Amino acid sequence: MIDVIVVGAGPAGSIAALVLARAGAQVWLLEREAMPRPKLCGDTLNPGAVAALADLGLTGGPLADALALDGMLITGPQVALRARYPAGQVGRAIARGPLDAWLAEAAVAAGARLECDVRVRGPLWRDGRTGAPSVAGVLLAADDRRAIRVPAAVTIAADGRRSVLARAAKLSAHPSTPRRWAFGVYASGVRGLSTMGEMHVRRGHYIGVAPVGDGRANVCVVTGVRPAGVTPIELIARALARDPQLRERTEGWRAEGRPRVLGPLAVDCVRAGMPGLLLAGDAAGFIDPMTGDGIHLAIRGGAMAAAAALEALESGDTDRAATDLTARRAAALGTKLRFNRLMRALVGSTLALELAGVGARIAPAVLRRLVCVAGDVPSNRAESEGAA
Ligand SMILES: Cc1cc2nc3c(=O)[nH]c(=O)nc-3n(C[C@H](O)[C@H](O)[C@H](O)COP(=O)(O)OP(=O)(O)OC[C@H]3O[C@@H](n4cnc5c(N)ncnc54)[C@H](O)[C@@H]3O)c2cc1C
Repeated sequence: MIDVIVVGAGPAGSIAALVLARAGAQVWLLEREAMPRPKLCGDTLNPGAVAALADLGLTGGPLADALALDGMLITGPQVALRARYPAGQVGRAIARGPLDAWLAEAAVAAGARLECDVRVRGPLWRDGRTGAPSVAGVLLAADDRRAIRVPAAVTIAADGRRSVLARAAKLSAHPSTPRRWAFGVYASGVRGLSTMGEMHVRRGHYIGVAPVGDGRANVCVVTGVRPAGVTPIELIARALARDPQLRERTEGWRAEGRPRVLGPLAVDCVRAGMPGLLLAGDAAGFIDPMTGDGIHLAIRGGAMAAAAALEALESGDTDRAATDLTARRAAALGTKLRFNRLMRALVGSTLALELAGVGARIAPAVLRRLVCVAGDVPSNRAESEGAA
């Protein structure tokens, strides 16, 4: 029997597989797509994510050529402010295809076995002696619609927001509110790009812009309930054309490739696993993309799930691992997740947005501090260059 099956070769799965393989575990990393695969994302690694990768010895690769981001430009109904990260702290703008392929290669180099084009259909259930069900591996979708059973001592679900494993185990679901959708496209012809990520918060939607090299920008528009009767590209074009900050900068812009759509975005998760199954990354819950820290959370969540799996392999007690992981995630990530929920509520409330805009004008240092918290910057201060 395999020690650990990791489902999903995004950042959470590849980091979990890498940590497990380095520790000597036999690990299979199963991915339903061919790598590199596209992924709708803002394409920014925040400073915390860059530091977390460096802690794992993951420097160089495509990161070496990725544009360094030294802060964020935030604009809102009543505020426009550039917040620089403290000296020595940078994020990176990098497309997810090369980033995720590089992380998966690192897991393979550490000894993990990567299988692409393999779709996991659901958990392989084992009836516990006490009557409580537990997960004993996965079921793979076979060509002829039959399922192939692949047993493992521990299974890690790192299969993203719509995790088939977390859902089958009734650990996660989309909440009834908020229901937000994301529309993203690569764009050429966007003027005024700098070495900062951009977040333009408006009533009812927000727009993220990141420079990704070759003169192209990643543009993501996040709305409330998906508007009917409008195509994704029309929606993005209208949002840019009507935006006070972006209208002039995007005049004559062109879409490079087709737009991608995701939604509803939020996923609530009750526990980080159950006997035999551990959750990592978005599979363990997703709040909102506006804080730009999903990859950092996925890296840390992947490493934490791997540590819990290793303990379970050592002790033979796979039931306890999920309880321990849930507690450790709450201790290590709970404050940040509460901050993210607060930010999500803020951008969803017109009154709160107005008040935040006024507050940011009176005390811009507070907004700069929030940018550093969102960026997981391990420092107490943000340097600034004042209002834009
Ligand atoms: C619009 C938007 C913008 C964002 N911008 C940013 C940003 O700028 N910076 C940032 O840090 N975060 C951002 N995020 C969040 C970030 O994209 C996620 O948090 C991150 O990708 C989570 O990584 P993961 O490994 O958990 O999941 P994923 O990256 O989603 O990887 C899951 C993997 O599992 C595979 N998979 C799924 N189901 C199966 C199955 N049944 N069988 C086998 N394989 C399967 C998928 O193909 C995929 O490769 C953004 C999110 C959105 C929606």
